[in-house]
Amino acid sequence: MKGILYFFLLLFITGSFGMKPKKPATQEIEGLFYYDQTPVRIEIAEGKIIRVTRIKALQPKDKDLYIGPGLIDNQVNGYTGVTFSLGDTRFTAEDVQKVNKALWQAGVTSYLPTLRTNSKENLLRNLAVLKAAKQDPASRGSIAGFHLEGPYISPEDGYRGAHTLSYVRKPDWNEFMDLYEASGGNIVQVTLAPEIEGVLPFIKQCREKNIIVGLGHHNASIKQVTEAVDMGAGICTHLGNAMANTIKRHENPLWSQLSEDRLMISIIGDGFHLLPEEIRVFYKVKGPLRTIITSDVDRYAGMKPGKYLNAEKDTIELTPDGAVMYVARNSLSGSASPVTKGVANVMKVTGCTMAEAFRMGSTNAARLYGLNDRGELRPGMRADIILFKMEDDKIHIKKTFVAGEMVYDSDK
Ligand SMILES: [Zn+2]
Repeated sequence: MKGILYFFLLLFITGSFGMKPKKPATQEIEGLFYYDQTPVRIEIAEGKIIRVTRIKALQPKDKDLYIGPGLIDNQVNGYTGVTFSLGDTRFTAEDVQKVNKALWQAGVTSYLPTLRTNSKENLLRNLAVLKAAKQDPASRGSIAGFHLEGPYISPEDGYRGAHTLSYVRKPDWNEFMDLYEASGGNIVQVTLAPEIEGVLPFIKQCREKNIIVGLGHHNASIKQVTEAVDMGAGICTHLGNAMANTIKRHENPLWSQLSEDRLMISIIGDGFHLLPEEIRVFYKVKGPLRTIITSDVDRYAGMKPGKYLNAEKDTIELTPDGAVMYVARNSLSGSASPVTKGVANVMKVTGCTMAEAFRMGSTNAARLYGLNDRGELRPGMRADIILFKMEDDKIHIKKTFVAGEMVYDSDK
């Protein structure tokens, strides 16, 4: 009797799990393809895109629904009340998960948490937390690596931006190696100033480790910019920002970096950090293949408009259209708009196509950081997909998929 029971139990188990391997479940998503705005069906299996097919039409209710690759943001200092890089602020791995979820809601499927100039002790601690969060399966691979902005930048007012002066220092390879180790080898970009003593060999060493070197928060001469690029610097971080209000008319960081064809640029496209005219000029010079749209967002992003107190107990106001204002000085105090807003705004002010906007908001970053399974929608790529509508020149995210799994649905 017992033998017969075992037999049936075995039959049950093998029948349901082992004997007949099931074809992996596929799912289908339809939308107007971001590249040419024609209707397509994308088939996904095991987290990857397996087929992209042209179809005649979308369901009537989805007739204006676009489909594009998830956005990739290379500068996220914080989000939704969490900051990664202000002074002694502590954050936990759970805080990072909160940021992931809020970014998915904005259509960002990969990003670089960014740590600004800080003490070695704080950087070591924060990198260790980020490393743990990156490894956590709950992040679904959305954390693509870390961006270290500073501490090897210009101490000059204006160029230093909001970075803390007492922590600004000269490059130190041994210190950097300690940080790199604490990050689990996950620092993929360092932003530094080319005019700082000791920077050139430092850039060379970074490139030997395949770390992207960004030039930013600097007041370098043309010669210094050229030398840094000769050593392997590849991108200019948030061009047009972190500069003094008054600059030299000829020798300033704008001309040297715009005229250097070997440099890509990142620009904060939110509509507050650069004038439409600046975005237009930068885009005309660098074009869609050498421009990356970034956000530089921090803790106020994803929060309700209103007044808040910052760490120094100053009043900060988040306006309904997404500007972060330092009320006492009536000046901008960082960014609160996800890169999604920047992508739409750059499309609006430059008149570029949706394909070019996604090139700058997703593909270029994927290529720069070697994320070869992301940034495009074609067979073999990770199914990082957004469904969205365009209303009043803005992108409204409807659904977000990371590795084929729906992580955000605006209807729920
Ligand atoms: Zn900056």
